[in-house]
Amino acid sequence: MRYLAGKPLLLLKKGSIRRKGKDALRGNIVASKTIAEIVKSTLGPRGMDKMLLARYDRLIVTNDGATILDEMDVKHPAAKMMAELAKTQHQEVGDGTTTAVVTAAELLKKAEVLLDQNIHPTVIVHGFKMAVEQATKMLDELSVKVNLEDREVLKKIAITSMCGKGIEAAKDHFAEISIRAVKQAAEKRGDGYFVDIDDIQLVKRVGKSLNDTELIQGVIVNDRGVVNPEMPKYVRNAKVALIKFPLERALARQRPGYGGEITIRDPYQMKAFVGAESEIIQKIVDKIKKAGANVLMCGSRIDEKAQHILENLGIMAVQQVKDSTMEKLSRATRGKIVKDPMDITDKDLGSCGVVEERKFGNDKMVFVQECEEPKSVSIFIRAGLERLADEIERVLRDSISVIANVYMKDKIVAGGGAIEAELAKRVRKYARKVVGREQLAVEAFADALEAIPRTLCENAGLDPIDILVDLRASHEDKNGVWQGVDVFNGGIVDMMKKGVIEPLRVKELAIKSAVEAASVILRVDDVILAPESKPSKGTSHRAPG
Ligand code: ADP
Ligand code: MG
Repeated sequence: MRYLAGKPLLLLKKGSIRRKGKDALRGNIVASKTIAEIVKSTLGPRGMDKMLLARYDRLIVTNDGATILDEMDVKHPAAKMMAELAKTQHQEVGDGTTTAVVTAAELLKKAEVLLDQNIHPTVIVHGFKMAVEQATKMLDELSVKVNLEDREVLKKIAITSMCGKGIEAAKDHFAEISIRAVKQAAEKRGDGYFVDIDDIQLVKRVGKSLNDTELIQGVIVNDRGVVNPEMPKYVRNAKVALIKFPLERALARQRPGYGGEITIRDPYQMKAFVGAESEIIQKIVDKIKKAGANVLMCGSRIDEKAQHILENLGIMAVQQVKDSTMEKLSRATRGKIVKDPMDITDKDLGSCGVVEERKFGNDKMVFVQECEEPKSVSIFIRAGLERLADEIERVLRDSISVIANVYMKDKIVAGGGAIEAELAKRVRKYARKVVGREQLAVEAFADALEAIPRTLCENAGLDPIDILVDLRASHEDKNGVWQGVDVFNGGIVDMMKKGVIEPLRVKELAIKSAVEAASVILRVDDVILAPESKPSKGTSHRAPG
């Protein structure tokens, strides 16, 4: 206990738990390894799924590392770090989450052995840093450039990301859809491409089968139907007006006395005023019609009078369209989002082949489809079960992400543990040149990379010891660069020839962020856990998002 002016100095809240020094570090390593143990069995085509009952009694069956860790809502700070690692990997490149977590835990496991030999954590961290720098360079040298026009290669990349996710029957179909979607959303920037995954909207509805999942060349307004049942539900050669604010806003500006106050003293005046208002609404809608629109997407409510006039003019209208959807509509139809409908002209309108309302049970959705060269597209996911639809959404995200990754960096490496085995060999060779104790850490890094082929073996029920021996031997041969684990037949096989390929970006980030996470954990020598705060009376749980 420390004292200040004779009084005990209290820094921490009562009930806080504090662990220091080696205790803290060991505790963190154990927690991180435990987390990795949980997701490890999902790795690869023969990985198993996890079933979890998440918050609000939601049943989730998934093979996706990031989802499992996110839904588990872990409490231990080091375990949380691992969950964060998965999340970052997921957000940045969309795939390779389990790989990153398993590698990070393996790095910590190897670090533990070095700690036992009294090697200081900062030396280990430094060694890891040296190793990862080399590994990144080696990855780049080893990677193979792909031709983005080569659909077969793209298809293999997509299929590799979907392997073992329980959708074997539809993987070709999903690969095709992912490739077409990314191609559409990709934007040329300089010599390369930029893809914003958010330009590919995923909408799911239970019903029909996986193979009925379709690519919509446009946008699905998924939470709204046409505002008035009398309006058309199907419009061909659509000219779409995108108006952000309520039509009445323009009305206010047109209204007599705008900017000041108007005082209504008797019922006749009121009637005249309402009459004038109807007239102005008529004027606004006429303006929209005159611009040539036959569909109106409005970011706000459409008042009843306006609905009535729109209906008479045969215009389909949807109200309260979300801002994000409005932007997507603008990117898909190439229409401009107009603030004041009185300013609208034909140049502001978007266009598309068909706008159609579709009904699913009680839900209605509006499909803005057949857009010409849309910069925003949608995938409409169909599956017989809700849980399956959820998993398909995750699987499609992965496959869209990997394709987007090769669009942004057109280089690939072979998976199935091939790239990790080759890197391990090369980093070991580099380690021989490293002087000082860091050498041990560099070697530890090389060993840690082999956790991926080992786990792939384990999950496939193969003997990892035999296979890793064979794998190392085959990588000694200069033609053995892409030898990896044949999880279906046992033994080893050339993964590049087999078409098990992954984007360089995914592997690079998985390794880099694994080292980063492991390093953060190794540098910590003090863990302070605040006492669990009790929810105050009446505090309710966060509503499901
Ligand atoms: P992650 O969350 O890390 O992406 P996955 O469960 O998707 O985890 O598994 C990815 C691993 O599975 C990668 O190492 C990848 O190379 C490997 N893999 C994918 N398809 C095959 C295959 N057909 N044969 C062997 N390994 C494969
Ligand atoms: Mg994957």
